[in-house]
Amino acid sequence: MVRAIVGANWGDEGKGKITDMLAEKSDIIVRFQGGSNAGHTIINDYGKFALHLLPSGVFYDHTTCIIGNGVAFNIPYLKREIDDIVAKGVPMPHILVSDRAQILMPYHIDFDAYEEERLGGKSFGSTKSGIAPFYSDKYAKIGFQVSELFDEETLKEKVYRVVEMKNVMLEHMYHKPLIDPEELLKTLREYRDMVEPYVCDTSLYLSNAIKEGKTILLEGQLGSLKDPDFGIYPMVTSSSTLAAYGAIGAGIAPYEIKDIITVVKAYSSAVGAGEFVSEIFGDEADELRKRGGDGGEYGATTGRPRRMGWFDAVATRYGVRMQGATEVALTVLDVLGYLDEIPICVGYEIDGEVTKDFPVTTKLKKAKPVYEVLPGWKEEIRGITEYDKLPENCRKYIEFIEKEIGVPITMVSNGPKRSEIIYRNK
Ligand code: GDP
Repeated sequence: MVRAIVGANWGDEGKGKITDMLAEKSDIIVRFQGGSNAGHTIINDYGKFALHLLPSGVFYDHTTCIIGNGVAFNIPYLKREIDDIVAKGVPMPHILVSDRAQILMPYHIDFDAYEEERLGGKSFGSTKSGIAPFYSDKYAKIGFQVSELFDEETLKEKVYRVVEMKNVMLEHMYHKPLIDPEELLKTLREYRDMVEPYVCDTSLYLSNAIKEGKTILLEGQLGSLKDPDFGIYPMVTSSSTLAAYGAIGAGIAPYEIKDIITVVKAYSSAVGAGEFVSEIFGDEADELRKRGGDGGEYGATTGRPRRMGWFDAVATRYGVRMQGATEVALTVLDVLGYLDEIPICVGYEIDGEVTKDFPVTTKLKKAKPVYEVLPGWKEEIRGITEYDKLPENCRKYIEFIEKEIGVPITMVSNGPKRSEIIYRNK
């Protein structure tokens, strides 16, 4: 049985906690896209962790964690994350790395920073993890697969060929220090030694696991609105954030994905630039930011303050549809308990017309939010474990969202801890 866990919004929906819960009941957890540019926050018996590259199953002894072929694979980062969790008392996780995963090179990180610097005020707000240069190279066919590390002769030839190109850019476009191909080869040999114990044909491994009836979890990063095709292009990430891509990024058949659990946040937040119709500002935003998440809404990777907004039903219905959600987990609902009234964005006004359909970016720029205001519940809901025990206005808020997005909300998260979850029947 293959399940996917993905986000419907701009990322930071609280996927980490839900993934951690589902990972416990899984045999295999697979990262299928992205790299170390975003983070999950997980709180468990070992402590509080911000994972960026490792799949969330690493805390369980019974799970195998896979870095799929779709990932931007930063090898020293993986080693650092493993060393880090082991140092905090977590048993050595079982990790497999796809021999087809491509390597995030040191120069990808440099180029990311140089390009942001060159763009100045017009930058994309990159996390400078090298993700955009990595995927550009992958599709320009000058990327390096993990398997290539083990073929010294081909590796050397390719390193020289690629470095020649990169150095032209470094010299003439960015005016930065050049790459020494021999130094790079040395680094890549170190990478080879770091990754060797984990490398295998993970697609074949997963195919066998599916036949054996194993439970497999595909772990997505970021959310629908950061997808390069369906998100707020160009303020998106460079790999698909959609469950459909899970099949490709893990190397399994698309029809094997039976359940697509899509995480939706009870209000909106976004990191970095880009269209955000229901964004709020000033004291109203500061208050929500301060109370949001677990100790405030600040990026797990970058520490940047997140932009805040009211729940956007237009964007979320679209986000849920693009994921092909079979069920929804609604998170951080507890945070809203301080509000007398809670606006929900139910439509976009564009050129005098109201639409409920999420438009392309050029139109999105002109969209103004149309709000419906619901009464707050003015109560602490943390600690409540049954749906019927939630205050009436809180249930009304959940059911209003459920109706707007058209997918059953089967889980409601009312606190950062794993136990703080309320199940509802489909
Ligand atoms: P991800 O990128 O989707 O995994 O999002 P993160 O897990 O990084 O961000 C969510 C933040 O909200 C983290 O600090 C979580 O601990 C916290 N969080 C998750 N679920 C809840 C919840 O239901 N209530 C509260 N108050 N915090 C939550």
